[in-house]
Amino acid sequence: MIYKFEKPVHGSIGLEKYQCTIEWRNGKFISDEPVTSGGKDLGPDPYSLLLSSLASCTLATLRMYIDRKGWNIPSISVNVNMYSEKKEGKETTVIDRDVIFSADTPEEQKTRLQEIASACPISKILQNDIKVRTFVFRDGETKTIKYANGEITVGWKPDFCQHSTRCWTQLPQVFKPSERKWIDPDGAAPERIEQQVMACPSGALTFKFNK
Ligand code: SF4
Repeated sequence: MIYKFEKPVHGSIGLEKYQCTIEWRNGKFISDEPVTSGGKDLGPDPYSLLLSSLASCTLATLRMYIDRKGWNIPSISVNVNMYSEKKEGKETTVIDRDVIFSADTPEEQKTRLQEIASACPISKILQNDIKVRTFVFRDGETKTIKYANGEITVGWKPDFCQHSTRCWTQLPQVFKPSERKWIDPDGAAPERIEQQVMACPSGALTFKFNK
């Protein structure tokens, strides 16, 4: 299991209703809620962000394909909207994507580009099975089991562990859940172990350099 991003997208909120700061790889922006929901509409709301993701992925995918083919289509635009419907107790969300190409785009190119748009990476994610897992970070005193070598001590707090699988799928040379002494600090460089400990979502893992 390898995450898409080395550094996760980070969001935070204070008491200001409902401005969230979203930090991505190369900057930050604000999201908000519309006035009707108690916000100030100073940034895109979560639904707009979701649809923006599909819109931008569609446009970038089409532009890459068109440029590779050398077709003369100087402008592309897209409208994305959504609704939900309930049938026989099952709720389905429908996302409609309307793509508009420059006026003189030949019909056969439009047909091919419709297929390309349908297969853009975000379309595929939205149409795959999606699981959202939620972990909560805890901080405080509880029983800690320590695993050390001369260079690093890794602490594990079993009460806090939420079995996210993150440590042992990403650094199996060190985190070995099937073994009795399940953390082996000799399995990787101390800096790599530090990086993995920092990715523990629950606060169950800690580390200390011994030198
Ligand atoms: S990453 Fe943290 S929470 Fe997840 S299994 Fe390892 S110790 Fe437990």
